[in-house]
Amino acid sequence: MGAPVRAPLTSRLAGFGTTIFAEMSALAASTGAINLGQGFPDTDGPEEVIEAAVEAMRGGCNQYPPGSGIPALRAAIAAHQRRFYGIELDADGEVLVTTGATEAIAAALLALCEPGDEVVTFEPYYDSYAACIALADARRRPVTLRPPEYAIDPDALAAAFSPRTRLVLLNSPHNPTGKVFTGDELELVAAHCRERDVLAVTDEVYEHLVFDGREHVPLSTLPGMADRTLTISSSGKTFSLTGWKIGWATGPRALVSAVQAAKQFLTFVSGAPFQPAIAHALGLPDAYFESFRAGLQAKRDRLCAGLEAAGLEVLPPAGTYFVTADIRPLGEDDGHAFCLALPERAGVVAVPTVVFYDDKSAGRPLVRFAFCKRDEVIDEAAARLARLSG
Ligand code: PMP
Ligand code: GLN
Repeated sequence: MGAPVRAPLTSRLAGFGTTIFAEMSALAASTGAINLGQGFPDTDGPEEVIEAAVEAMRGGCNQYPPGSGIPALRAAIAAHQRRFYGIELDADGEVLVTTGATEAIAAALLALCEPGDEVVTFEPYYDSYAACIALADARRRPVTLRPPEYAIDPDALAAAFSPRTRLVLLNSPHNPTGKVFTGDELELVAAHCRERDVLAVTDEVYEHLVFDGREHVPLSTLPGMADRTLTISSSGKTFSLTGWKIGWATGPRALVSAVQAAKQFLTFVSGAPFQPAIAHALGLPDAYFESFRAGLQAKRDRLCAGLEAAGLEVLPPAGTYFVTADIRPLGEDDGHAFCLALPERAGVVAVPTVVFYDDKSAGRPLVRFAFCKRDEVIDEAAARLARLSG
């Protein structure tokens, strides 16, 4: 017997455990419950986009593509930013293809932060933010969003900045709350960035999932922000192809090239045959984006009605795949315990949003449900959840 091996995992990752999404999907699989936990659609994206990937595979598009992404996809991303937001980008140097938004976020944090730098973000935060900030040896400074509006508290935002603040990491539309930051809130964030000479990294993966006639506004389109904002998005949500993991980062050449410096050592390149297919997808007509959005909005309303009927307090989302609900009207206040028991009690899996907070008291009674599911699945889940109120 040799000497005892010390715990192998770096201290930077100790405490992160297994992601809640994997944990809850495993719980759904082992109990046979309806999975409204992890956010993925239960129907695939457009047939023509899938065909384009098949064609690319059969056509020999199977070896390493260029590190920045194939020219056709970079051009399609630039054209998408112009078409929807009026943003002008040079596809050669201001656009980088990544392995999902997840890699873009990781590469951005690793590339832009020095050890000890601070990252201002909003809690509840997407779980990979905390882990990647830790991997970069940076510090997170979360600003708590509180229901029912999940509005930014201007004083809390101001207090989160310090001389060590390197960047603001902003996710709008926001997972898990479904919040779409208002114009005034975006301007407030932008004003801090400009005044304090801080960078912004935005996660806009739900950019096409905004409801009730709202419009998505990229932070980079606000005055003075184009030069200091790295914009991240992904094809996963927009085209219901979450397993393909084609994402991108766009913005000023210096920022994009810094991110590529990290990306080249993480994955080097991203999914060759999916790239021409997503280039095709980004050029789909407006009707695709409109009907996709309308379909998700109807699903949101369907699930919200079911949750309300089940006796939960619904916090209606303005965007994304998700709705959060407060379980206190059921006489309970521990969302984590509630989610662990939910498969047995009602045959449904949901995600406790407390795991996305540093301030555990703020998220304790809140639970997230995904509505990117077939209508009959939503209806069945709602019928099962109705058992909760007896
Ligand atoms: N950011 C947010 C807010 C998300 O919800 C997700 C998950 N879908 C991602 C990033 C990751 O996106 P991708 O699957 O493209 O890596
Ligand atoms: N983004 C999806 C969610 O929030 C899942 C992604 C993941 O499993 N990491 O549920």
